[in-house]
Amino acid sequence: MDYYSSQINKLIEEFSRLPGIGPKSAGRLAFHLIHMPKEQVKELADSMVEAREKVRYCKCCHTLTDQEVCPICSSSDRDHRTIMVVESTRDLAAYEKIGKYEGVYHVLHGAISPMLGIGPGDIKLKELIRRLEGDVEEVIIATNSSLEGETTAMYISKLIKPTGIKVSRIASGVPVGGDLEYIDEVTLLRALEGRTEL
Ligand code: ZN
Repeated sequence: MDYYSSQINKLIEEFSRLPGIGPKSAGRLAFHLIHMPKEQVKELADSMVEAREKVRYCKCCHTLTDQEVCPICSSSDRDHRTIMVVESTRDLAAYEKIGKYEGVYHVLHGAISPMLGIGPGDIKLKELIRRLEGDVEEVIIATNSSLEGETTAMYISKLIKPTGIKVSRIASGVPVGGDLEYIDEVTLLRALEGRTEL
């Protein structure tokens, strides 16, 4: 591809590294950017760098936040004895949108997948187990209903059961393999309320 300037080629190359962006979309984005007002491009670039630099894991629940402890973990209005385990910060956001859950979260950042070579040590599981040494009454497992999500749920429940802490799983009805983020709020609330003890 020598038809473009090397800068444009570089841009296309960088965009194609992003998830879901093929060479065609990368080209479209690159040319769009070139035609944007310079000021706007600078704002976009700055916010990307700033987000990458400032966003980190909450010390307690490991969600993405720009504070040492996220607003949910530091809130005294939340029930810190109920922990909902989710796969990603986006899943956490989906539950927060319903506005009915009063407990706190634990974000695993992934799920166990023997096929992809992702083991228990590759997600934030040790961190969850460490949290259970505190005053915890119930762990609600809200991993996705995909094969990986179910495998992870089973693994976690086996780990927690011997501690005597109540372990529950959100009700099915959440589409298999569906990202929790894209499920409507009524379905999500029903899944939470209809959770069953494992
Ligand atoms: Zn937190």
